[in-house]
Amino acid sequence: MNIVLMGLPGAGKGTQAARIVEQLQIPHISTGDMFRAAVKDQTPLGLEAKSYMDQGKLVPDRVTIGIVRERLGKEDCAKGFLLDGFPRTVPQAEALDELTRDVGRELDAVIYIEVEEEELLKRLTGRRICRSCGATYHVVFAPPAKDGVCDKCGSELYQRDDDRPETVRERLKVNLEQTGSLLDYYDSTGKLRRVNGQLPIDQVTEAILAVIRGV
Ligand SMILES: [Zn+2]
Repeated sequence: MNIVLMGLPGAGKGTQAARIVEQLQIPHISTGDMFRAAVKDQTPLGLEAKSYMDQGKLVPDRVTIGIVRERLGKEDCAKGFLLDGFPRTVPQAEALDELTRDVGRELDAVIYIEVEEEELLKRLTGRRICRSCGATYHVVFAPPAKDGVCDKCGSELYQRDDDRPETVRERLKVNLEQTGSLLDYYDSTGKLRRVNGQLPIDQVTEAILAVIRGV
């Protein structure tokens, strides 16, 4: 089973990916892990990627795609894989189609965990952190007993700058634009399957597994 899992920040992609790969016994291949492994193994492409990252530059597609190609060629991918965080752009998606074709494979499904923007905002802006012990809370999903006060040590809770609505909105906007083109691309290839990510976590997992069983 060769799968791409997509979702905006806050859609629950990481949680669902972990559950799906356990069910299907295929490797979870995230871009971050892939880069870290290539750098650690000091492969030529890994070293090249590192030189860009060290300069704070974006790793070019040629390098990223090369690293994906190497990773998908490893033995543990023989029965399939779940890609997470790649592709991010249409040229990357086209390159992925090409490289799967080269090794006589094909993507089985591209699953998009769909969550409305307002719900994502609620999820992403609700985090609160304790100033002294670092305990984390969520105003909706894991609230402290007393508003703004840490249950564990009684100190004040604060919101990280990254979690502020204006910052989160901006991050979502950039992601939405990129994701939109990618969804159009996979719609046109007939591979896109949308799953309602606003259901309870277990039901989202079930919906994803049902899609996978159906392809
Ligand atoms: Zn605390």
